[in-house]
Amino acid sequence: MRRILFALVAILIFSAQASADVLGVRAAPKAGGARLVVDLGNDLPYRVFALSNPSRVVIDLPKLGWRAQGLPGSDSGVASLRHGLFREDIYRLVFDLKQSAAIHSAGMIAGLNGSGRRLVVDLAYGRAPTRAEFGNLAPGTKAKPTPPPPRRPKDRIVVLDAGHGGIDPGASGYGGVREKEVNLAVARAAKRMLEDLPGYRVVLTRETDIFLRLRERVRLGRAAGADLFISIHADSHPDHAVNGASLYTLSERASDAEAARLARSENLADLVGGGDVVGGGTEVFDILIDLAQRDAKNRSSAAADDLLFALAGTQPLLQSPKRSAGFAVLKAPDVPSVLIELGFLSNREDALRLADRDGRERIARAIVDGVIRYFDGANTARAQQQN
Ligand code: ZN
Repeated sequence: MRRILFALVAILIFSAQASADVLGVRAAPKAGGARLVVDLGNDLPYRVFALSNPSRVVIDLPKLGWRAQGLPGSDSGVASLRHGLFREDIYRLVFDLKQSAAIHSAGMIAGLNGSGRRLVVDLAYGRAPTRAEFGNLAPGTKAKPTPPPPRRPKDRIVVLDAGHGGIDPGASGYGGVREKEVNLAVARAAKRMLEDLPGYRVVLTRETDIFLRLRERVRLGRAAGADLFISIHADSHPDHAVNGASLYTLSERASDAEAARLARSENLADLVGGGDVVGGGTEVFDILIDLAQRDAKNRSSAAADDLLFALAGTQPLLQSPKRSAGFAVLKAPDVPSVLIELGFLSNREDALRLADRDGRERIARAIVDGVIRYFDGANTARAQQQN
């Protein structure tokens, strides 16, 4: 009897897990538009909306498993499908479209052969998307900031921001290494090392594989009371010979064309996640930046120097490795902020180094050394001012 009970419980648990999965995704042409079908193991709340520039349809579901094959190629007008965790509690599907579309209807119907459920979304092509959202998924909780650790008077708060995550993988490269994983692994290692030292507290903007908007990263940094904000990234380049780490600070005018290109691509992260691009129509924000950035700017520049100094002994560096451009994630007006590109995943040596545990530990150690150097230098400067 007990054995039967165990078996029953096991089946129940198994079917409960299976029920929250996406089993299949299809797209088919339909008069004047297309039909998107998502096969689900069970009835789930959902939210569907369309976006323009570029044209996309977004389907949000509660966190679930993915057991579907890729979207089969078809003449449905869907260019590609991306999917992954958007927030800890939301799984997001983004259908990139070849033309603008509005959502005509969306609804849940019985699954094939009477099992499971099917979410059916009908698109009308050639129409501009409306602001309307279809579905019944609750807006959900915002990504919760890690509560800042209790602060002792002299603690330095360092916020490490692992770039990308969730639905946004960032750059990818040699051997299939993905930027979002490299960034998080290095951030975690650096946190562990820094917190072994007295007087340092470290807050990570994300501790798991989730998507965060750039503005949310800035907000988390400020909410944590950051004394220094370091956004961690890895780059890729069409020329696979280009390699080495580099450091970036915020500036209105990019230091060079490459820095401008990089800022453009990093600023697209929000778009990849299915949202709007940061920037535009934020005059007040810009004025605030202007006023407060002057002080933070000098300190950001000093931090970049100190990090480069520490990196130089352990890593290859990009030519003229200190650059600046308009990175949205560095726009906290009052927090010294830098962005580090750990290397180029498109370069074989860099990618192998950053895919490797020892390589990540080495670069994390260098970041920690740079942080210490920065705060020691700031102390010295303060002491000199007081004398
Ligand atoms: Zn990046």
